[in-house]
Amino acid sequence: MKIMFLTVVTASRSGAIGSGLTYEAGTQKIQPGSAVRVPLRKSFVEGIVIEVMDKKLQTEFDLRSIKEVLGDVPLLTEAQIKTVRWMSEYYCCSLRQALQVWLPPPPWSRLLPKETVMFRKAANDRPARGKKAEAVLEFLEGREWTSREEIIHETGASPAVLKRLLELGCLVRETQRASMLTSRPVSVAAKNEAVLTSSQKEVYESVKTDPRPSLLFGITSSGKTEIYAALIADAIRAGKQAILLVPEILLTENVIDRFTQMLAHEQISVLHSRLKPGQRKEEWKRIHRGDVSLVIGSRSALFAPLKNLGIVILDEEHEWTYKNEQTPRYHARETAEALCRHAGAKLLLGSATPSLESWSRAQRGSSTRAPYHLARLPDRYGSNALATVTVVDLAGAEFGKNYPFTSQLLTAIEERLKRKEQTVLFLNRRGAASALLCLECRRRVISTESQLPFTVHHDSSGKPFLIDHTTNIRADVPAKCPHCASVNLIEVGAGTQRIEAIMTKLFPKARLLRADTDTLETPEQMRSLLQKMKNGEADILLGTQSVVKGLDLPNVTLAAVMIADIGLSLPHFRAGERIMQLLTQLTGRSGRAKPGEVIIQTFRPDSAEVIAASKHETERYLEDELRMRLHAGYPPAASMIRLLVRGPDAGARAKKLQTDAMTANMKSGGNVKISMGPTLFGAGREWQVLLRGEKPRELLAHLHLKDVPVDVDQLETV
Ligand code: ADP
Ligand code: ZN
Repeated sequence: MKIMFLTVVTASRSGAIGSGLTYEAGTQKIQPGSAVRVPLRKSFVEGIVIEVMDKKLQTEFDLRSIKEVLGDVPLLTEAQIKTVRWMSEYYCCSLRQALQVWLPPPPWSRLLPKETVMFRKAANDRPARGKKAEAVLEFLEGREWTSREEIIHETGASPAVLKRLLELGCLVRETQRASMLTSRPVSVAAKNEAVLTSSQKEVYESVKTDPRPSLLFGITSSGKTEIYAALIADAIRAGKQAILLVPEILLTENVIDRFTQMLAHEQISVLHSRLKPGQRKEEWKRIHRGDVSLVIGSRSALFAPLKNLGIVILDEEHEWTYKNEQTPRYHARETAEALCRHAGAKLLLGSATPSLESWSRAQRGSSTRAPYHLARLPDRYGSNALATVTVVDLAGAEFGKNYPFTSQLLTAIEERLKRKEQTVLFLNRRGAASALLCLECRRRVISTESQLPFTVHHDSSGKPFLIDHTTNIRADVPAKCPHCASVNLIEVGAGTQRIEAIMTKLFPKARLLRADTDTLETPEQMRSLLQKMKNGEADILLGTQSVVKGLDLPNVTLAAVMIADIGLSLPHFRAGERIMQLLTQLTGRSGRAKPGEVIIQTFRPDSAEVIAASKHETERYLEDELRMRLHAGYPPAASMIRLLVRGPDAGARAKKLQTDAMTANMKSGGNVKISMGPTLFGAGREWQVLLRGEKPRELLAHLHLKDVPVDVDQLETV
């Protein structure tokens, strides 16, 4: 028999051992993911087995032995533990940091199923005195192990009677944990009610048979959710389980309705960041027990302890909320891919505007990874035509006191009110960054260094100046446009706060609703708001894009974005992609049941995003944008890593880090582009160093990164 060794991540918070300790396990067979108790310094602590090895490292001697294995079933499966290790490596964090998203906080032994105390009659015939004692022995005659609760319930005996019988040797006692591996029979077989159309069926078949991750590129209302439902039903009927991720928990309300038509309520678990710790733990245990067939939730629902995963689906896979902005800074898409690979499960990504990352993978793969399977759903379900899109040029508009409402938009809203139809207005909350825009040539003033727009700031006297946030170059506001010499420069930025006030003033009788993360706290509030819209108890819905875009409201015939360019002001190479996603969501929003209209108000009616969105030419946009990224060396054509430096001396430390990175880069061939600057919203106390190239990761080993969060594949760079 071979002696086995374990890597164990302990519950102790000591930073130095975040990557686990090695213990000896004797000849016991222990599975990765098991909870164990191990000696640490002078006491015993809980830990999770991350790796089981039959050799120890040369450098390790005098290893201590584990004390015990807790429970007879691991808390996480081998596939889940492999994904923990992958996360730690890929996202440059400790094993403990990676593990922490998979488990409720310690003590972990409390996650194990409750121990049940069981009794049986001893194999002798010792008599017992007392009525209750006799009743117990009589009850147990001819029975196998019976729980203490059942004996007490059936005979009325007290625990003291059982204790006495045990001491007399009349009974034998044992504790058992309800085994977690014997997963319960699924009480209700999933039943999918919808009959797929022939094109949906084709997509469904190809996704089902292709073993690669699939990207489903389907326009809004094409029936992506129906395809998810069919695939989830199949997985559950095959005895497996499914995870459906949505970008924003307020949007789960739509999908939950769809899936309760298919599954019993108890078979669904809804997980999101607003659950209280106690609720989260109870859900965790319920899923771990095997009671749940479908988990629906935001990005962290990926870590649900399902044991027999059949499929993971990311709806709206392009959404930025799939990226965690705290350590571990994982992206749910990449992590789901790793999990599915290890678990032998299918991965399906769905979107009407795929991320450039997924699109390029589906087109050509990447240097290190195989291509995705691509499936398309180009038509809306039913006979619905696409909405007509009107682009309104803000640069030429007369607003009076109503900026940013143009007369076209006001007329359109008025018509809807007369016809008793509904309107959705998109607000853009990211208004804090302003760019300098030329009203003549419609170009933004950009930094020649980064090729990204300068951001306008104001000094204490209110005088404006420009900052390039990726290089820290400052510049004065030019008197004339650098491109065309026009003096007609304006600051495009915020201004959406007044929208509600203007609406109330102009349309005092209209019933307004607001939907954003400030006014809505829970999914239930979202549900009641949606109900009001559906019941026709409101005329106009004002909402931020993240909340409003997933809605399916039949009586909405006008959807409008107030200033499409606000996102374009962000000094960010993904700004265009993001605008495109927003505008496409918007054009899919209106007219689900009746002919719809979309109004895009913009300072740049000729920008690629506005043109592509208004003509519904998503694919051409993706190809053009991908070509530009290749040309400029930005993701997905390159990898990018962001190092975050925080604190009062952040600027100086970032500079030092940049110098070290440059030195390391020179030695290794100089293929990585390195830049640095204060972050846009960090108020001067947060700086970033950006590493961009084919293998920027290789520089990390040469840098002092203590207390410097490493952000791999970051989405925010501002
Ligand atoms: P998407 O997720 O692509 O935006 P949905 O799945 O929400 O689209 O479908 C849009 C609408 O069309 C929904 O109301 C849905 O119930 C309906 N629908 C789509 N496909 C079918 C189908 N095969 N049978 C019945 N209704 C369908
Ligand atoms: Zn100009």
